[in-house]
Amino acid sequence: ELHNVIQELKGNIRVFCRLRPQFGSSGASQHLQVAENKLNLDHMNEQYGFSFDRVFAESSSQEAIFEEVRGLVQSALDGFKVSIFAYGQTGSGKTYTMQGSSTPGALGLIPRSIQQILQASEAMKASGWAWTLKVSFLEVYNEVLRDLLGSEGSNLVHVIKHDDAWGTVVTNLTLMEVSHMEQISKLMETASRARSVGATDMNASSSRSHSIFALYLHGVNREQRSELHGALHLVDLAGSERLDKSGSTGERLKETQNINRSLSSLADVFLAKAEGRSHIPFRNSKLTHLMEPCLNGQGKTLMLVTISPEADHAHETLCSLRFASQVS
Ligand code: ADP
Ligand code: MG
Repeated sequence: ELHNVIQELKGNIRVFCRLRPQFGSSGASQHLQVAENKLNLDHMNEQYGFSFDRVFAESSSQEAIFEEVRGLVQSALDGFKVSIFAYGQTGSGKTYTMQGSSTPGALGLIPRSIQQILQASEAMKASGWAWTLKVSFLEVYNEVLRDLLGSEGSNLVHVIKHDDAWGTVVTNLTLMEVSHMEQISKLMETASRARSVGATDMNASSSRSHSIFALYLHGVNREQRSELHGALHLVDLAGSERLDKSGSTGERLKETQNINRSLSSLADVFLAKAEGRSHIPFRNSKLTHLMEPCLNGQGKTLMLVTISPEADHAHETLCSLRFASQVS
């Protein structure tokens, strides 16, 4: 009860933190301690304490994380615009958390969410609901949108437009109707191929772009004469590491500025919301413009901050934790 009231006050933003296991080591990190939903960090002889809605220790499974977001995912079938963002430095586990791998138990939030929605929408048939589920997968790189499900070599231009039902839509974007789980793994393969091809073309790694997996849920109930437009966005953000502008020139500088701009514009939106300001600056980046329907107060948002356990990364970890604690 109290938890729900607090959520209302926060404008429906929850923050989770996930600590990645240390590679090739079974020892716990000396500088990071997790207790309940609190996290303590020692860095340069200073101690920092943070608390979040949930903190997942190194040993947390993909399933355990999904169990905590199941309710949020389900609310897309109530017509909510839902978004889950993975934020963190490169290598901290954003993609693992979102996509995971196909080894048993390692499936990430995207396939698990789709599976749940396919099952739940099927079950709603009994009460007269017919659902159409469509998926898009796009990338934002250098403030340009790219369709990860489009045909190879396509140079279609994508523009964000207002839409009464969905809030925002993207022009010329491939929408694939899904009704079976098998379609999803194929779709993910297509997208990751497109991502790596694009990365080579642009001489950039995927850590420098945001990827947005979107599921559009259209429900119609003839008996009740009602209709719902829910959406679920799973966003794998560009690496949050300090993007150093010194020494960058030309294209590289522009890219760096654009990553800084979109991540800081996202932070600005969260900050404006947390402070209850009446003007929320959605239009400062493609990312926040596109995600406006999820972030505008009618949607539901989860910020999942991933952190690395290595002491070498303590400074970046501190930056990520500070970002996360500003959000809520
Ligand atoms: P990011 O997307 O933030 O750059 P990745 O998700 O690619 O980071 O993770 C970096 C590496 O760590 C990958 O090899 C990934 O499989 C592994 N990894 C990340 N999180 C976990 C985890 N919770 N359990 C096991 N391996 C993980
Ligand atoms: Mg990644």
